Amino acid sequence: MSTYAALCICLSLTSADLTVNTDFPGGSGTVVLLDQATRSLTIQPTPHKDTGWECWWYFQLSGVTPGEEITLTVKSMVFGLPRWAGVSYDNKTWKQTPPGKADKGTVTYKLKFDQEKIWLAWGPPFQKSDAEELIERTVKKNVGATKFELARTKFDRPVPALRWDPPAKEGVKRRGIWLQSRQHAWESGSSWVGAGMVDWIASDDPEAKALRETTRIVYVPIMDIDNVEIGAGGKDQKPHDHNRDWSAEPVFTAVAAAQKGISEMNEAGEFNLFIDLHNPAPDDSKPFFYAVPANLLSPERAKKQGEWLAAAEKFLGAEKLSLAKDIKESGPGYHPLWRQISKTWVVHNTRDHVVACTLETSWNTPNSTQEGYQAYGRALGKAIHLYLQQP
Ligand SMILES: [Zn+2]
Repeated sequence: MSTYAALCICLSLTSADLTVNTDFPGGSGTVVLLDQATRSLTIQPTPHKDTGWECWWYFQLSGVTPGEEITLTVKSMVFGLPRWAGVSYDNKTWKQTPPGKADKGTVTYKLKFDQEKIWLAWGPPFQKSDAEELIERTVKKNVGATKFELARTKFDRPVPALRWDPPAKEGVKRRGIWLQSRQHAWESGSSWVGAGMVDWIASDDPEAKALRETTRIVYVPIMDIDNVEIGAGGKDQKPHDHNRDWSAEPVFTAVAAAQKGISEMNEAGEFNLFIDLHNPAPDDSKPFFYAVPANLLSPERAKKQGEWLAAAEKFLGAEKLSLAKDIKESGPGYHPLWRQISKTWVVHNTRDHVVACTLETSWNTPNSTQEGYQAYGRALGKAIHLYLQQP
């Protein structure tokens, strides 16, 4: 064997270079440090000017030698530092990594994989393609659902949405609900909750069938699709984010279209419930509801809200993710633009019996997984059915 051949064999036994790729929808991750010798890398969310919090990261890592230990450090604001990161071998099914070690402004994971190429993310991603796939599979079930385009965004992306609009019966008012996710782009868990709910509504469960045959239902999987697709955080973007845009003159076409859709159902006397799906702060270990301050609710709305929370507690409280006993209020002390938060707008622009709230599903727990979120969404569907059965 020549010296040259020996050198080649020797080199082939050393590890391939680790490579980070973010060139796909939702991709985010700027390499701060990459040490091929120690197999360690540090990344931070890719910055995008004026698009809000830099807390979302999602990248493909290749060059992995199966079984080797890789040290991944993520540098971010605290919202971008999950205890368990998301990992996928096919960019479709996501599991959690072992817990990372938090330090000030960073979290470090020691990781081993049995594949050369894997995907890592803040949590299970849910992109425009996932929204379209959810809508397609629901429509194909022939359970009365149709797809529609809620709006086209500033960057000319469609905002895909799903609706059930069962035939009206003479003299009978239908009930109506509007649910939406991702007014804050980084909160991907909220779209998985919505997906679980939609799959339940479209299921063989007789209660799901009863719900969809008597209720006008709209679900928007991703409101801020522009930032979701470029991998930006969205929250607190310029001039303000989607959930501070619910005024008489919204900046975002998706918000304007949602207001129009809600108003139409409300004016028809066919609207009952609005739920805005979000993910909260890292230390919120149990999901909870945000509501408009109690002193701004009419007695009837307060009563209906109490009934809704009791129905929600029955189903969501029984889930692994559970439900916090107390609701939180977002009033004047919460944010200067509190009046322009979606549920506040709904309360101020709908009939007195309509309930409007935000559901914040915890993301920093062992149950904050694709399956955990979807189970939570199924429970949400059951709670909605129970609530709407009440007179
Ligand atoms: Zn949010």
